[in-house]
Order: sequence, then C-alpha cells, then structure tokens
Amino acid sequence: MSAHPILVIGAGPAGLAAAHAIASCGERVAIVDENPQAGGQIWRGGPGRWHDRRADALWEALRGNALIEWISGARIVAKAGEGRLLLDEGGTPRDLAWDHAVLCTGARELLLPFPGWTLPGVTGAGGLQALVKGGMPVAGKRVVVAGSGPLLLAAASTVRKSGGKLALVAEHQPMPELARFAAGLAISHRNKLAQAIRLGASIGAGVFHAGATVIEAKGDTRLRSVVVRRNGRDTEVECDFLACGFGLVPSLETAMLFGCRSEGGCIIADSTQQTSATGIWAAGESTGIGGVDKALAEGRIAGLAACGKAPSAQDLKARTQAHRFAGLLGKSFGLDKALRALCTPETIVCRCEDVRAAELMQHTGWRSAKLQTRAGMGACQGRVCGTACQFLYGWEAPGLREPVFPTSAAVLARLPDD
Ligand SMILES: Cc1cc2nc3c(=O)[nH]c(=O)nc-3n(C[C@H](O)[C@H](O)[C@H](O)COP(=O)(O)OP(=O)(O)OC[C@H]3O[C@@H](n4cnc5c(N)ncnc54)[C@H](O)[C@@H]3O)c2cc1C
Repeated sequence: MSAHPILVIGAGPAGLAAAHAIASCGERVAIVDENPQAGGQIWRGGPGRWHDRRADALWEALRGNALIEWISGARIVAKAGEGRLLLDEGGTPRDLAWDHAVLCTGARELLLPFPGWTLPGVTGAGGLQALVKGGMPVAGKRVVVAGSGPLLLAAASTVRKSGGKLALVAEHQPMPELARFAAGLAISHRNKLAQAIRLGASIGAGVFHAGATVIEAKGDTRLRSVVVRRNGRDTEVECDFLACGFGLVPSLETAMLFGCRSEGGCIIADSTQQTSATGIWAAGESTGIGGVDKALAEGRIAGLAACGKAPSAQDLKARTQAHRFAGLLGKSFGLDKALRALCTPETIVCRCEDVRAAELMQHTGWRSAKLQTRAGMGACQGRVCGTACQFLYGWEAPGLREPVFPTSAAVLARLPDD
C-alpha cells in the first residue's frame, strides 16, 4: 500500500499497539521514539523492566518482526519538505520519508507555578517517577508527592518501592470528590479500583491526605521543606524532594507539524482515529487523557485503519470502555480555579527566562507577553509556562514554530533551502 513503511511516532502503549496492528496486516512499519527504549511513559525503561502482561505480549509479537524498523533515540523536530521529516538522532540529522503516519505522541505533565517551584529538588510527580525509573537514587530521602490526579499514587508507589521515605502525599481534590471517583470506578471500572487500592496500600498508612495543597516550597540552594495547606491550616513539612503535578496535557507538537486540527488541547480524531490531515491517524494521550487502556485500544484501531482495515466489535468495545474511564477522570480531576491563587506576583512563571507573574499580569495575551518579557522564549518554547498562562490568565495556547523541539544547528542545516 505505502511506498514507505507506515510511520508510527511514539513507542508508548498506543504506538506499540498501532505497530502491532499494522504488522499483523502484513504492512511494513517504522516506529520512531526519542527514548532509547520502547515503552513510553508508563512502560518506561524497556522490556526488561515491564511488569504488565499486555506489554510483554506486545513485545513478544513485535521483537524480531522483519516488518518493523525501530528508530530509537530519534526525535522528530521539523518537516524537511513534501513527505519528509527531519529527525534529530542524538545530534545527527536524519531525513525520513513518509506517506502514512500514526501519531502516538502521548502527553506531558501539567506544572503550575507556586512560590519556590523552581528550587532544585522540585519536579513534577511523573517527572520524579521518570527520574527514579531512570536510576536516580531516592533511598532514605524524604519525599512529598503533591498536586492532583491518579499519577500521584503511581509516583508515590514508585518512590516507596525504591526506598524513598514518603513524608506526605497531598491530593488537592477533597475527599468527597475522591469518593465520587471511587464510586464511579466501582460501577464500571473495577480493575482500576483494584489497582488504585493496591497502589494506595503500597504507599503505607497515614501519608495520603485529600484536600491538601502545597502552597510553597522553601529552601536555599535546594529544597528543604514545603508548606501544606489543609482545611485552612498551614503546616511545614521537611523534605528532600517535592514531586508536584496537576495532571497531563496532550503533546501536540508533532500533530502541528502535520497540520492536524486540535480542540481543547487534544488532537481531533474520528471514529477510525483519522485526524483532519489526510493519511494521518492519532491515538493515545495525544487525542485526550485517558490512560493506558485508551492508548492500547485507540492505537490498535488507528493501526488497522492505516492499513484500510476495520476494527472488530471487541476493539470498539474496549475503546468505548476506555473513553468512559477518560470521561470519569476528566470530571473527577478537573483543574480547580482556586489553584490560580498559588501563583503570587513574585512567583517565577517562565523558568527558562526567569519571568515573574507580576510582569506577565500587565499583558492581555501570550503574544504581547512573549514579545515584551521573553516568556516562552527559552528551551521549553512555552511548553511549561504557556500552558500555565492558559490556566492562570485564560490566554490562548501559544502556537509552536519549527523546529518544534530544541535541536542543534548541525541538524537544522539539513533542512532544504526553501
Ligand atoms: C511523566 C509521566 C508519567 C506517567 N506515569 C504513569 C504511570 O505510572 N501509570 C499510568 O497508568 N500512567 C502514567 N502516565 C500516563 C501515561 O501517559 C499513559 O498511561 C500511557 O503511557 C499513554 O500511552 P501513549 O502511548 O499515549 O503515550 P506515551 O506513553 O507518553 O508515549 C508517547 C511516546 O511518544 C514519544 N514522542 C513524542 N513526540 C515525539 C517526537 N516528536 N519524536 C519522537 N518521539 C516522540 C515520547 O518519547 C513517548 O515515548 C504517565 C504520564 C506521564 C507524562
């Protein structure tokens, strides 16, 4: 069907499921990921470290398959002309031809600014989890996990299993909201409820607090303690690390390169996972936050569709169920506008360029703020502060320019002159 292998971008659960479906249809597939190992966020670290039978089964089917080309440690950074993409492969440029692609580019963490959040020792919740999975030692270290969403429990569990001392897990949502979420899980997602109970049990008794918010990180050259507000009372908790995240936001950079339309921060995909761009399908967190089951179900359907094949009734049922869970997740962990008050005028919002809230508040939109203050002009290109400003000030999301990720001049030199 394709002159070139079908390109799958992202080797997380969605990408692996898509690649498996494509190879099962007898088509060639190239799977690109910036990480050296397949697995994405949840299965980070590669096959040797997975503890999920679904991951093992996928890997068993994929490894050594002659139809699959693995392009690991390579990030797509720009278009390189009609039907071609520019990759940064560890600093070396690579030009990749494509005519059909499945985007499985996942999500990143939503970080919200509060006093002290830029101190060394403060990370996102998933961010710390990724560092620990990558080998960063936390044994004996006091860790506070904070923010909102199911990722807090997963991150806390990883910290505990790696020998870290959990000083506190502070979930912003109050207990009645969490109870409603648990009731929703009990009705239609019992496996998820069991998983949440297992994770809750694994972090130890007495450390989880609902309706608790870290309002300040304190320290000198690094983090020393955090101030936690609960029921109007502030308590200071000593710690070595604070892992604080407020959920996930879809990664849209690659979709923007392909000209795919998005709405509400998610790639728009139809019932076959086809995007608004011809020959491009999308699956997983990039089409909306919903977790690993959604990624697997959508990835399979997108892979089949890219080969012109229809999904089975079972595939569709799995996706419907996963979308139901995504709906429950969104309803239960929506961002509370009260969190805007965490960011004081003195708080740094753009940490790449050290721009404080007081400077940003004088502007009416992202464009003017960017031009006058340099917010969003640093290495993250507004991925962190732009999303924060959307929440804090209701500004439109910053548009991205190529290269969509930072890269070297040597890589960019490969771009055609026009
Ligand atoms: C930091 C973090 C930690 C998480 N931890 C957990 C957890 O412990 N448990 C849980 O249930 N869920 C976790 N999640 C949620 C998780 O995203 C989903 O459950 C699941 O991994 C989604 O699968 P996916 O395939 O859609 O995306 P991902 O697993 O995120 O995979 C996307 C892949 O695309 C690659 N990629 C993106 N853009 C490019 C590009 N331009 N070029 C090359 N490669 C690219 C990325 O490197 C990544 O490997 C976490 C999310 C984040 C952000």
